[in-house]
Amino acid sequence: MIYADVIVDIAQGNLDRVFQYRIPASLEGKLEEGSPVMIPFGKGNRLIKGYVTGFSDTTDYNPEAIKEIRSLVVGGMSIEQRLLSLAVWMKKKYGCTLIQAMKTVMPVKKKIRTRKDRFLVRTMTVEELHGLLSVCRKKNQKARIRLLEALVQDEAIPYDVILNKLNIGKSTLDSILESGAARLEEKRKRPDNRNQGETAPFVSLNGQQRQIAEEFIRNFDSGNPGISLIHGVTGSGKTEVYMEMIAHVVSQGKQAIMLIPEISLTYQTVMRFYRRFGDQAAFIHSRLSQGERYERFEQARNGEISMMIGPRSALFTPFERLGLIVIDEEHEGAYKSETVPRYHSIDVARRLAKDAGAGLVLGSATPSVDSYTHALKGEYRLYRLSQRAQKGSALPRVSVVDLRKELEQGNRSIFSRELYQAVCDRLEKKEQVMLFLNRRGYASFVSCRSCGRPVNCPHCDVSLKAHRDGRLVCHYCGYSIPIPKLCPSCGSPYIAGFGTGTQKVETMAAQVFPQARILRMDQDTTSGKEGHQKILAAFMAGEADILIGTQMIVKGHDFPNVTLVAALAADLSLYAGDFKSTERTFQLLTQAAGRAGRGEKAGQMIIQTYTPEHYSIRAAARQDYQMFYEEEMTYRRMMEYPPCREMAVMTLSSKDERKAAAAAKEIAGRLSGSAAPETLQVIGPADAAIPRINDIYYKMIYMKSADIRLIFSAIRQVRRFYEWTDWKKSVMIQFDYM
Ligand code: ADP
Ligand code: ZN
Ligand code: ZN
Repeated sequence: MIYADVIVDIAQGNLDRVFQYRIPASLEGKLEEGSPVMIPFGKGNRLIKGYVTGFSDTTDYNPEAIKEIRSLVVGGMSIEQRLLSLAVWMKKKYGCTLIQAMKTVMPVKKKIRTRKDRFLVRTMTVEELHGLLSVCRKKNQKARIRLLEALVQDEAIPYDVILNKLNIGKSTLDSILESGAARLEEKRKRPDNRNQGETAPFVSLNGQQRQIAEEFIRNFDSGNPGISLIHGVTGSGKTEVYMEMIAHVVSQGKQAIMLIPEISLTYQTVMRFYRRFGDQAAFIHSRLSQGERYERFEQARNGEISMMIGPRSALFTPFERLGLIVIDEEHEGAYKSETVPRYHSIDVARRLAKDAGAGLVLGSATPSVDSYTHALKGEYRLYRLSQRAQKGSALPRVSVVDLRKELEQGNRSIFSRELYQAVCDRLEKKEQVMLFLNRRGYASFVSCRSCGRPVNCPHCDVSLKAHRDGRLVCHYCGYSIPIPKLCPSCGSPYIAGFGTGTQKVETMAAQVFPQARILRMDQDTTSGKEGHQKILAAFMAGEADILIGTQMIVKGHDFPNVTLVAALAADLSLYAGDFKSTERTFQLLTQAAGRAGRGEKAGQMIIQTYTPEHYSIRAAARQDYQMFYEEEMTYRRMMEYPPCREMAVMTLSSKDERKAAAAAKEIAGRLSGSAAPETLQVIGPADAAIPRINDIYYKMIYMKSADIRLIFSAIRQVRRFYEWTDWKKSVMIQFDYM
């Protein structure tokens, strides 16, 4: 290669300004994508630093006028370089372009008015606040009550948290400021900073918690922080352990990133971190503007903050001295990017932690089968927290109701008799209830109302999905049949798509429980995340007795007055059409059970199902992770699914369906021809779950192997071949891992 593409200011996020430079003989073969170089720039040929992003043999400019790279920069990795190297890794692994990868990992610079982080600070005594509160309560001023209650709890609250997490509008805030209850301050030191850098915990860790934290600290101090998985039941105090670890890392002058699914990033969670860490902690969420996000990343780069808390994208916080990454609720699907590049946050975190010599801590009440397997193999340190940390808080009672029996005995309602009784009981006691449907996405499967069985693929042991053209299709092998008129299992004519939406549930609940105040939360009722927060805040404030929704209502919220949680048809997510649907069902039911009775009162969960014998449901009912894991692994081994096999999928996309199909066929043929079928299994090509999106057609090829290196080598081979094809310009190739 004669020329190198060089980006000059990635720190500014100016990724589209790429310049060609000639590679001097002295650097031939020494440059790679991501290499930092010094280049003469501009009219004065001022020497500046740039980064190599690609190579070429030709140029569109006058070759005489192209300047030469001066030198390769050697020495320590700057944060830019580390992020760029991450982007290069992403490009190779996921098959996206370097620019796509860089746009994912580099903060995009946006100019905004710089505004200092402000805090609302209490200026009245708690007694005075209570006086004001009782006035507001009489007038039923809900937003003011919310804010005043928060001020009673906390002396200082970040302005941003008030707007975004407490959902307090500007006018409410102004009225509180006018009343003299609080004022805005620019900077706020951590409440407890008596001994520089040391932050005192607010609870003292119990034996199990302390052991985990201390072992981490020992390993961290000896330079071997490694990867840990904390398997701790909901409420077992994982967050306290993370905070202890973070406090240590920060006290050693290092920095930490903590990922939390956006939906769990509640006011309570955010304030827990502010209480302990003050303005050393920053958080990001999807409602920040790009400018605000950029500003926080700048604070991180400048060392003004020591920890960043947020969803997936917080991973790319440019900390120079990263010491720890924590991923809470590590099993959550939200950690996988749904846009190109389709990276998984755990994979990226592992790579980042390795580069920076940082520790990685994963935590969950229901670890992913994948992570748990790594832990059992000894690749991760495995810790358990088996009890709820708070005194008097027990795990809920779980019961399973067989919906087939209900139907047999003449109950056609979506509420079983047990659930009906339980709801009536809570309404009487003025306790709250959550009813949810674990349905996701709109692609639906077809199942029998008599026997509850879905229609399965004869080759893959997954359910077929109903397509709009009236056919049932397997998303793994492409097998398809017309929608049958009779149930293939029992011959019943009552076979139908599972369309019980939350709206229908709401209508029925209103008929059955006329005395109840009902709130509904799903994609339709709520416009964006603001709507979600509002509904949750209202439910939290006791403005409704029953909350009905999709699975999002049972994720990560603590409602002390909720003592009953019910899955209306637990099977809905069991047959979602991919091999992880059982795992997701178990996780969801177990997590949902954890939502019941988090306060003082005992909790109960009711699982309504057509398949009470299914192990995911039995294990969830017993809150028995071990049992689920073993059964699931038996199934995965039998079906040769991950983590027993490595599995990747290649997606070919094109506006031209024939080209996509031809390319897919050719590649699949080459792959099957090139490897021994027993070492690399090639499945497909098949249409994607949604074969066309925005007039682009998608074809999939699955690859399975016992050895990930065989898959990587197949991918490299495909990429090399791709470069020479004449459909290169019209067909895109992406990779994704299961
Ligand atoms: P998890 O993250 O595992 O769900 P949390 O850390 O949120 O658990 O803890 C659940 C509740 O128990 C919180 O209210 C927390 O303050 C409390 N808690 C945690 N550890 C202790 C402890 N050692 N002593 C008393 N309370 C604790
Ligand atoms: Zn199939
Ligand atoms: Zn049937």
